[in-house]
Amino acid sequence: MGIEKNLPDSSPPGLVGLALETGLEAWAESRGWPAYRGRQIEHWLFERSELAPDAMSDLPANLRNELTSEGFSPRLAIVRKSESRDGTAKILFRTREGAFVESVVIPAGKRTTLCLSSQIGCGVGCGFCASGMRGVRRNLDADEIVEQFLLSRHAAEGMDRRVTNVVMMGMGEPMHNVDNVLAALGTLHDPKRIHFGARRITVSTVGIAQGVERLTGSGRPYTLAFSLHAPNDAIRRRIVPLKAAMTVREIRDAGARYMATTGRKVTFEYVLLKGINDHPEDARELAQLLRGVPGVVNLIPYNPVEGLEFERPTDRAIHGFADLLERRGTRVSLRLRKGADIDAACGQLALKSSQQ
Ligand code: SF4
Repeated sequence: MGIEKNLPDSSPPGLVGLALETGLEAWAESRGWPAYRGRQIEHWLFERSELAPDAMSDLPANLRNELTSEGFSPRLAIVRKSESRDGTAKILFRTREGAFVESVVIPAGKRTTLCLSSQIGCGVGCGFCASGMRGVRRNLDADEIVEQFLLSRHAAEGMDRRVTNVVMMGMGEPMHNVDNVLAALGTLHDPKRIHFGARRITVSTVGIAQGVERLTGSGRPYTLAFSLHAPNDAIRRRIVPLKAAMTVREIRDAGARYMATTGRKVTFEYVLLKGINDHPEDARELAQLLRGVPGVVNLIPYNPVEGLEFERPTDRAIHGFADLLERRGTRVSLRLRKGADIDAACGQLALKSSQQ
């Protein structure tokens, strides 16, 4: 797995970045504008998802020109939106340096979930995942993650959907970029900015101990999702090759601690891979591992990725696995496949675009 150096993007911030770093009221006053002009810009950004200064029609023309000429343009641009037959929409963004990241809008009944990326690529290299195929290029900055949210929310609204949930489960390992992820989620949660409930935000991880500690101590009631994928370390190492990741027992214990400390839910994500982790004995061992831990196991039948050898188990094996867990007292949720016709497995669309 070729992991490239984590090179920061040194271009100037967009307006969201300016809001996060300096505050737009302070910036406006420092330039001789009244503070309320800063509040107007914040309104355009966080309420209306409009990131381009020249579209902020109630600002004076010379303020718009000042913002544009100083380069406060958005850091992400939507290059493609693909909608699946089941309503799932995948959005492909280009960063200023020409790299690709993606988000997914997932409608399900009254819920609409946004799945956001935290890095360009991923350094974990899970065997079944498109994002890990080329290693990590760099972390996304906090303002890029917020821009991704705003542009994706705007796209969802264009589909007549109101975003109800956010999951940090797109490209990247969020806990490898914990500072920027927590800063971005703080902006989402901030009542003066986006005011999105922390309880409706889920952060996933393969089990990076320091990151999990930071999240546990963040004081915000996010849901924590461990990408477990195996009932024991031998199987897990075949799927999640990162040596620094926590063991399955450490994950189980950290999950129990997180619930006890925050009172929030923990989920254990389990991608079912045919012949790898879908045997009846795997279900029994998983139930034994999680005995007494009040989390939920999310079973996710695998979405095949071009170029990778893993397969989706049969429906019979999937339901048999879920039944075995339930009969042993494990809480289970079975996630049906969404967006299969638009490359909605994580990282597939961005990987294809970077190969073109
Ligand atoms: S599944 Fe997640 S952690 Fe694993 S390689 Fe893909 S993006 Fe990274």
